[in-house]
Amino acid sequence: DTATALALPDEAATTRLAAALAPLLKPGDVVALAGDLGSGKTTFARQVIRRIAGDPELDVPSPTFSLIQTYDTPRGTVLHADLYRVADPEELLEIGWDEVGGGVIALVEWPERAGSDLASGALRLTFSIDPERPSDSRRVEIGASDDWMKRIERGLQV
Ligand code: ADP
Ligand code: MG
Repeated sequence: DTATALALPDEAATTRLAAALAPLLKPGDVVALAGDLGSGKTTFARQVIRRIAGDPELDVPSPTFSLIQTYDTPRGTVLHADLYRVADPEELLEIGWDEVGGGVIALVEWPERAGSDLASGALRLTFSIDPERPSDSRRVEIGASDDWMKRIERGLQV
């Protein structure tokens, strides 16, 4: 596995990272978005979904209360989950969680709440607020398996 940290000095940088990663994603992929409240998980997911959908203004609310939101796009279904309110992984079985890792592109906030094995095949992004920098500065750590790393390297050669 590889871990790399990137600075996201402003929201535009987060949008650029989303734009760079969105083209690589395909059904079956899971992107685990970890990090504290306000660290930028939803902002990142929103930009990825807009890219995949090909609609820069698509309404992508935080799925805080719905837990799961799905989007039909030209590249298949994108599933956006926010598991913050999930206390027990069993709750997930009632809300369409079985599609994750199946035929959808899944973007999952608070992935640790899904229990143990979600993160194994996932591309892991851990966002944090950068306390030493201006207030709109964030950091992201990218944790990628060798397979993910190959796809990212291939995909970023533009
Ligand atoms: P989370 O889903 O992790 O709780 P959100 O994406 O909902 O976080 O909120 C992040 C907030 O921080 C938004 O209000 C966004 O506008 C703001 N923000 C400021 N700087 C950045 C940045 N560099 N990247 C992402 N969001 C940022
Ligand atoms: Mg969020």
